[in-house]
Amino acid sequence: MSASATQQRVFNFSAGPAALPLSVLQQVQEELLCFPGAGASVMEVSHRGKAFVDIIEDAESTLRSLLNLSDDYALLFLQGGAALQFSMIPANLLRDSGKTAQYLLTGSWGKKAVAEAKKEGDVEVLYDAKDSNYDHVPSPSDYQVSDSAAYLYYCSNETIQGVQFASEPECPDSVPLVSDASSDFLCRPLPMDKYGLLYACAQKNAGPAGVTVAIVRRDLLERGSEQLPGYLQYRNHAAGGSMWNTPPTFPVYVLGKVARWLADDIGGLEAMEKQNQEKSKLLYDVLDSHSDFYHGHAKPEARSLMNVTFTLPNDELQAKFLAEAAENNLANMKGHRSVGGIRASIYNAMPIEGPRTLAEFMKDFALKNG
Ligand SMILES: *Cc1c(COP(=O)(O)O)cnc(C)c1O
Repeated sequence: MSASATQQRVFNFSAGPAALPLSVLQQVQEELLCFPGAGASVMEVSHRGKAFVDIIEDAESTLRSLLNLSDDYALLFLQGGAALQFSMIPANLLRDSGKTAQYLLTGSWGKKAVAEAKKEGDVEVLYDAKDSNYDHVPSPSDYQVSDSAAYLYYCSNETIQGVQFASEPECPDSVPLVSDASSDFLCRPLPMDKYGLLYACAQKNAGPAGVTVAIVRRDLLERGSEQLPGYLQYRNHAAGGSMWNTPPTFPVYVLGKVARWLADDIGGLEAMEKQNQEKSKLLYDVLDSHSDFYHGHAKPEARSLMNVTFTLPNDELQAKFLAEAAENNLANMKGHRSVGGIRASIYNAMPIEGPRTLAEFMKDFALKNG
């Protein structure tokens, strides 16, 4: 990449699509016109040819080793984003089951998932954090999962509110635990054997938009009715190595490079978690030390490693904050349109210099405007 192009790059706090590791972008650029050995761009070759088969197999095996994933699970590369999973999960695991699916609601994405699931069958919201404006996660004594539920669904990190579960919710062994991990996938090690199904769209923490990773315990692959549209049937994708139809080849290729970066450059998910804790602490420390000026949205025990959400004393100051931050190369922090405020997303690919620079800016801004 030319020096001028990299020099213009800002600290990108976008919530998604979001920052990618610079080294990954540089490799993609180097290989864009001619993927080694293929004589063409990755975008221009058959998904069944050797070049792409090697790419998708490497992406899968790198993710499997990062997650320590056993062969009891299928790992699928799908399209349709997280939103399609809102429907695909109940279509496979709830439709015609005679059971009820139970949901824990800790923010906006969970709510959307419930609305879609209701079209497929009986849904019970076991816990809803709306009374406190989605600023916390429930503790195990706040809900009781039925032994015969079709599944228990939760969103491990609510991207809009900046609220994250520190660990998995309590769930009986007889009930598949299902997680929307779209915005915290790969941010820390995952005890995958606790899950029935876990999915993540790539464009927050794992790659570009266009591919969604779904990890499905193999026994659950058999639950989908024969009547489902073929694309919605998990076992079709599992049987075909995510090649039931043409997979999103370019996003899979970039996601594979991000996984390799995590494994080889970062050193795996424990090392990544350590960095994410350091990065988020820089910002939460400022919220705590300047609590008369900044108001953090999430309760301390539910603070997200990935999305740091807060407000300033009034809208004018918020607008001023965003404008002055942008002048300092601290970009894309406007909170989601549904909740307002400021949201600094500090996904895996954000280098520590980003939150470090932002923390200094925040202290300075509070001093001048408080
Ligand atoms: C972004 C996001 C979604 C929606 O993803 P799409 O790919 O746009 O469907 C769902 N859940 C969470 C937690 C998200 O962060």
